[in-house]
Amino acid sequence: MQKGKVELYTDAMVREVLTDEKGMATGVLYIDKKDMKEYKIGAKVVVLAASACETARIMLNSKSKLHPNGLSNSSGVLGRYLHDSTGTDRMGFMPELVDRTRYNEDGVGGLHVYSPWWLDNKKLNFPRGYHIEYWGGMGMPSYGFGFGMDTMRKYITDEVGNPSPNGGYGPALKNDIRRMYGSMIGMSGRGESIPQYDNYCDIDPETVDKFGIPVLRFHYNWTKHEVNQAKHMHETFEEILTGMGAVLLGKKPDETTQNGLAAPGRIIHEVGTSRMGDDPKTSVLNKYAQAHECKNLFVTDAGSFVSQADKNPTWTILALSWRTSEYIIDQLKKQNI
Ligand SMILES: Cc1cc2nc3c(=O)[nH]c(=O)nc-3n(C[C@H](O)[C@H](O)[C@H](O)COP(=O)(O)OP(=O)(O)OC[C@H]3O[C@@H](n4cnc5c(N)ncnc54)[C@H](O)[C@@H]3O)c2cc1C
Repeated sequence: MQKGKVELYTDAMVREVLTDEKGMATGVLYIDKKDMKEYKIGAKVVVLAASACETARIMLNSKSKLHPNGLSNSSGVLGRYLHDSTGTDRMGFMPELVDRTRYNEDGVGGLHVYSPWWLDNKKLNFPRGYHIEYWGGMGMPSYGFGFGMDTMRKYITDEVGNPSPNGGYGPALKNDIRRMYGSMIGMSGRGESIPQYDNYCDIDPETVDKFGIPVLRFHYNWTKHEVNQAKHMHETFEEILTGMGAVLLGKKPDETTQNGLAAPGRIIHEVGTSRMGDDPKTSVLNKYAQAHECKNLFVTDAGSFVSQADKNPTWTILALSWRTSEYIIDQLKKQNI
């Protein structure tokens, strides 16, 4: 930017990638969020990095004579194999941590201190695995803080060993909350799901957003694999929490709630909508995240993922983007694009 070689357009809501009569990308069409008018920008190379679902939306909305099903989508795979991480949580109360010494633990909680996967799937009723993230500690209290003291008071005793008689307000309530502060521990399982052809997003023919751009619809069901994995997570949570001497809070969910498995999309690790592969019949992008059917179009978000391990996706997005960037430079130098 300092050398005047970059022009940055902000408040620009891209609607579609424009293509020429050979099917190659020529730029993008966007709506300016300030004046709500349409504009075009020309480009030698177009790189989409709008996040997995939004990039699929832009590509599906980019229809033309040579790309009638959306850009680089003669396979029909664009939008498909959408998948999120699995997730479910449990919490416990550690009596041993009541009245614990105070430290500044701001920043602790929701940490990726985690238990990795170590089990043998041959002995289990689901493939792949999950890790566990732990939370708790004495972070800054936020709105709603207080542990539901009406139900928790039974777990703490007064100075002579009787259940705490303290009431629901005033100094007695504050005292109980202070004593319990830092004695809760939570566990979140985050796991690998199996990408499915039938889990997909497509364009809703009925609905547009405020810019007039057609929005996505989502079609997604967990399979038995993920539901069984969530059951296993809960069994592990209970084993670890109980082994630590914690009092389990809440109930272990059952099949009526898919073993507490979070709804698809809740773990916000959506990937897979423009998957990479060697075969253009079953993938949208090649291994460099270059569109099979539009050689000067690249995708550098998690759309290209064919699967994602139990761990969060962003480092892999960055690593793949780096590789794609180097490939684009190389291909421009060789005048292949
Ligand atoms: C609350 C939360 C917590 C998370 N925690 C973690 C974590 O701990 N670890 C981890 O690895 N991942 C985490 N994730 C997932 C992570 O944020 C995403 O994987 C990552 O941000 C995806 O990167 P991206 O560049 O593909 O998309 P984004 O970061 O979503 O960037 C896309 C950009 O494109 C812009 N854009 C979108 N549509 C258009 C359009 N039509 N026109 C123009 N611009 C557009 C957006 O404004 C945005 O700036 C978390 C996500 C959330 C929501």
